[in-house]
Amino acid sequence: MKPEQTLVLATRNEGKTREIRSLLAGFPVVIKNLADFGPIAPIREDGATFEENAYKKASLTARFLGLPCLADDSGLCVAALDGRPGIHSARYAGPDATDKQRCQKLLEELGDNSDRRAAFECVICIAVPTGPALTYEGRCEGIIIDRPRGDNGFGYDPIFFYPPLGKTFAELSMEEKSRVSHRGKALAEIREEFDKILIWIEQHMPIIEKKGCLGTPEH
Ligand code: IMP
Repeated sequence: MKPEQTLVLATRNEGKTREIRSLLAGFPVVIKNLADFGPIAPIREDGATFEENAYKKASLTARFLGLPCLADDSGLCVAALDGRPGIHSARYAGPDATDKQRCQKLLEELGDNSDRRAAFECVICIAVPTGPALTYEGRCEGIIIDRPRGDNGFGYDPIFFYPPLGKTFAELSMEEKSRVSHRGKALAEIREEFDKILIWIEQHMPIIEKKGCLGTPEH
């Protein structure tokens, strides 16, 4: 019987890992994350776009481990701030800031600007060690409100109001958020075509020839 394909998530985040495992349950794939391996060099997210960062994380990790790898990059793009914080969403208020401080800084920078349009964006890359990769994108549009509302979620969820449901992301359950969120949409697309993705991985994985030791007589 053919062994199941392994797919490594380029994260140590157990929450993300659980979400993706449950989404891909039933497919012939073993999902691992970086915690299943020894120390591997940290990857600098210094790309100019979500795509570049997701591709860099997925392809370098795939090369380090010799296994197919999935990585994501995401953030909040605010229209009146020319798309910022965007790729800098995680470090927007400094490396040690809390989610609350990041939300506060965004509200201060936006001030009483009447243009409150914003969008969460997410890019997910699946790469093999030789370089080729597949890319999936998801986007969710909303409005930045004046003060935080709700206790669920993380990051900028309490200030991101989603008009179709009349709530902020922090007022939605995880299931409600996943149905409409940037990450949820990209993951849904992956689930939709995961059969084809597994074939693509198999076709693009390098074939490793196993050779006998030097001096071993050939038969
Ligand atoms: P990363 O892609 O996991 O590195 O996330 C980048 C940053 O974007 C996070 O640290 C959050 O600040 C923000 N972010 C990404 N997705 C979400 C979301 O679903 N809700 C709130 N904030 C998010």
